[in-house]
Amino acid sequence: MTSEEIKQLHETYVMPTYAPGLALVRGEGTRVWDAEGRDYLDFVAGIAVAGVGHCHPRLVEAIREQAGRLMHVSNLYFNDRQPELARALSLRSLGGKCFFCNSGAEANEALIKLARKWGAEQGRYEVVSFRNSFHGRTLATLTATGQDKVKLGFDPLPEGFVLADLNDLGSVEAALTGRTAAVLIEAVQGEGGVQAAAAEFLAGLRRLCDERGILLLCDEVQCGMGRTGEWFGYQTAGITPDAISVAKGMGGGFPIGGICAGPDLSDVLGVGSHATTFGGTPLACAAALAVMEIIEKENLLKNARVMGERLRQGMAPLVNKYDWVEGVRGQGLINGLVLSRPAFSLQRMAEEKGLLVLATANTVIRLVPPLTVTEREIDQAVRTLHEVCAEMEPIREEAGA
Ligand code: PLP
Repeated sequence: MTSEEIKQLHETYVMPTYAPGLALVRGEGTRVWDAEGRDYLDFVAGIAVAGVGHCHPRLVEAIREQAGRLMHVSNLYFNDRQPELARALSLRSLGGKCFFCNSGAEANEALIKLARKWGAEQGRYEVVSFRNSFHGRTLATLTATGQDKVKLGFDPLPEGFVLADLNDLGSVEAALTGRTAAVLIEAVQGEGGVQAAAAEFLAGLRRLCDERGILLLCDEVQCGMGRTGEWFGYQTAGITPDAISVAKGMGGGFPIGGICAGPDLSDVLGVGSHATTFGGTPLACAAALAVMEIIEKENLLKNARVMGERLRQGMAPLVNKYDWVEGVRGQGLINGLVLSRPAFSLQRMAEEKGLLVLATANTVIRLVPPLTVTEREIDQAVRTLHEVCAEMEPIREEAGA
């Protein structure tokens, strides 16, 4: 099918909840190809999903092998891959137990349910989250999300959610009540424009939660699984949350999400309290195990740190060169080029030059390439961004005229 044919078919039969652009049909490493065979350097990576690159041979092999052996048996039965994955995650995170589901929103639902179940006896059920955060599109997670646009038209929203300001401990203190069960935070807000929670703020939050006897929950859906250069974003700040949610990069493109709890919370969700048909299938777990093996064998945490630094350094001169480029921020391979103008036209122009990037929070270009990205690919992306910025300036003058 041509791109046009794919588009027509899509528009006829798929609900218009997205506004896709290119029709992509193949991927390898940091490259994807459209239906006409044009290739693109992919610094979107399925929005921080293809952490080990597209179609990594080891991941493909692991999925093929497991698909030919056993895909799904239901959680009425043990399967060999699920506890192996839980152990692998536990050893790299909080040392407790895990629950598996299929997406980031579902993982955050599970975190919220965990907090409510934990707090029920004390009458604690409220969750404090942050302005500009993003936690998913289910009713509970969109209510926890600190962005009005995801809530429009979905009233009445569930009760028990309160917003505070990121990096402002006073605003969190003001939001806490005797009903608060937990504070939910992204170590780096991805959808919110690559805004990091400051290390001192996270340390302060941990202290505050301890003092008040409430839980600290980290949404690691976007910034987890190696993206910041550590396994999980909270580790860059040296704090220990009570539980975390993961998804996106976890299966490298195969859908899987989950939560990992510290030992104290590991048995809060008991038999019958939470479930999902596809949670932790042998196939999804085999994919996630392969992703973790690849991250370790190929030293991708270090690569994320080194390549991230190279990318930020490459973009830094743009700040002095153009008055509408406000800054470069990020950690590891979750980075943002912050503009003072809508970022979408830069996204479109980069795409025309063969580089996929993502406009987010209106004025930020988000760059979340695979953790396998090479020096050469970083340099190519940086060159393209410089070219695009050079072509953008006259548009600004026209727009400002
Ligand atoms: N949490 C964060 C931090 C996210 O970035 C996202 C998705 O972008 C989600 C949760 C929701 O994940 P999903 O789209 O898999 O439901």
